[in-house]
Amino acid sequence: MSERDSDDWAFATRAIRTGHQRTMEGEHGEPIFTTSSFVFDSAREAAARFSGDQAGNIYARFTNPTVRIFEQRLADLEGGESCVATASGMSAILATCMGQLQAGDHIVSSRSIFGSTTILFNKYLTRFGIEVSYVDLVDMPAWEAAIRPETRMLFIETPSNPLTEVADIRLLADLAHAHDALLVVDNCFCTPALQRPLELGADVVVHSATKFLDGQGRCIGGAVVGDANTVGEEVYGVLRTAGPTMSPFNAWVFLKGLETLDLRMQAHSRNALALAEWLEAQPQVARVYYPGLASHPQHALASRQQSAAGGIVAFDVKGGQQAAWGVVDATELLSITANLGDVKSTITHPATTTHGRLSPEERQAAGIGEGFLRIAVGLESVDDICADLARGLERL
Ligand SMILES: *Cc1c(COP(=O)(O)O)cnc(C)c1O
Repeated sequence: MSERDSDDWAFATRAIRTGHQRTMEGEHGEPIFTTSSFVFDSAREAAARFSGDQAGNIYARFTNPTVRIFEQRLADLEGGESCVATASGMSAILATCMGQLQAGDHIVSSRSIFGSTTILFNKYLTRFGIEVSYVDLVDMPAWEAAIRPETRMLFIETPSNPLTEVADIRLLADLAHAHDALLVVDNCFCTPALQRPLELGADVVVHSATKFLDGQGRCIGGAVVGDANTVGEEVYGVLRTAGPTMSPFNAWVFLKGLETLDLRMQAHSRNALALAEWLEAQPQVARVYYPGLASHPQHALASRQQSAAGGIVAFDVKGGQQAAWGVVDATELLSITANLGDVKSTITHPATTTHGRLSPEERQAAGIGEGFLRIAVGLESVDDICADLARGLERL
């Protein structure tokens, strides 16, 4: 299949068609290459491959044809020159930091990031002489004030989890570049179907493919997307050497996920908006957090920056923890779990789970109240999702 004439294809077409070069077998589906090494025709060819004079496969820690299809397809969808697939979202973030930072460097990060990312930064990167400062995602003066001469990286997730705050990617990219730093965006919640940070000036996109890219809760994986030097050379070099690479089977599952990504993200967003509007009308609900609602503080920015508002909705029920737990325990359809990005809707009480180790004051500062609930809206009928929540709300 020629890839040369694909430049004009729409997103949905590219998500299905790019990356796969049919082998001599003429297969229609993407093949899974289960091999750890690759064979050379001669000693001369082996030498040329190892020296880099000849492109091609050597060993599956370096490259694998199935993984490469996923990498090329995701690079295309994010609008990046290069993509490297990783064993998990966390190894994507680790490889990005190892490829770009050294002792003495400084990161400015949003406070509202995935819990394991905070631990990676605070407990492990600091051991290697990298310092991290945290600021509120939407407080631009705080970002500027936190930058030091040694700052090499700004790190964000937008919309944030679980409060769904939205950062202005273009402003943060400009700020990073004015100080010779990179803007790294964890694009897990939107995926390139809804938001393409590289087009807005970000330098690197990282993914937990585990979430919406898979979309059906089957495999752990991740990816880093960016330019040919930053990602194609430097991040790839870490992966090739240190080895948290993606398995070909997982790459194949994620390829199947990408084929339906556009459809699913539209459907997650439609369901989430309908649920958020329904929640806003419930008397037991004090506040709803969803960038697609006109009441959201960054609604205008989200509407500009994203093509839809995504699948995460949060809300405060009146009556604190007891009321919130009552809503959770009354559900029969929603899964009580912290995962997200699945076709199955999930419900989480952050104050006693994901944010349970914070002190009540820290939780208050983070905006996580005792009655706060987060829903990762799946693809069930939204009427059933609302009915499942109504059962608990009506008892309050
Ligand atoms: C899950 C998640 C990660 C980590 O990904 P894993 O695949 O679990 O390693 C990173 N960032 C965000 C926003 C996530 O939701």
